Amino acid sequence: MSMLKIESVKVSYGAIEAVKGVSLEVRKGEVVTIIGANGAGKSTLLKSICGLEPVAQGRIIVDGKDCTGVPAHQRVAQGVAMSPEGRGVFADQTVRENLMLGAYSRRSSGAAALNTSIEREFARFPRLKEREHQLAGTLSGGEQQMLAIARALMSEPRLLLLDEPSLGLAPLIIKDIFDAIRQLRDAGLTILLVEQMAKQALGVAD
Ligand code: ATP
Repeated sequence: MSMLKIESVKVSYGAIEAVKGVSLEVRKGEVVTIIGANGAGKSTLLKSICGLEPVAQGRIIVDGKDCTGVPAHQRVAQGVAMSPEGRGVFADQTVRENLMLGAYSRRSSGAAALNTSIEREFARFPRLKEREHQLAGTLSGGEQQMLAIARALMSEPRLLLLDEPSLGLAPLIIKDIFDAIRQLRDAGLTILLVEQMAKQALGVAD
């Protein structure tokens, strides 16, 4: 069963064709990794999957539904979430507030359900629990990466997009991040991972 199908997708920035006709499939429960040099178009491809860059040509199908022209906020409701390159944490918000923002699409589900999700992420990343009320901008790079992943998971995605989670991190922290990715995979989550750390990425990927 296919969770994500990309058919001949092209994405351009004006005259620059950043993604030149990519096709790939991620089946349910799989971890698929995209490895490539700087500027190869990996981030652009992930942005097109979550609706942050428009597709010039081709189709993006999530869990059997064509969502090529669907705006980003509606794709979250369809089960797509991304941890972006460079983390993109809200620096002036606390760790807890960042997590609450990740659950924006579920804001009507009630405080108890959101608290349960936050506690689940604190169990996954205990360092976030210790820093619950700290401003995200004051976290270390590794902690910000954990927060970016946890924030994405707050929307209860069925497809998680991870853009270079190892970027700029020390080896020990990279190991923690990949352990978390492995646990998510073992729990059955479908993941599309963009990485430059080929060895680690291939170690976790199907
Ligand atoms: P990196 O690992 O460095 O992030 P990448 O494989 O993710 O590389 P992209 O960031 O997708 O590559 O960039 C693909 C191409 O598109 C590059 O040539 C880049 O300069 C260009 N590009 C990316 N974003 C924009 C933008 N907003 N406007 C114009 N060109 C862009």
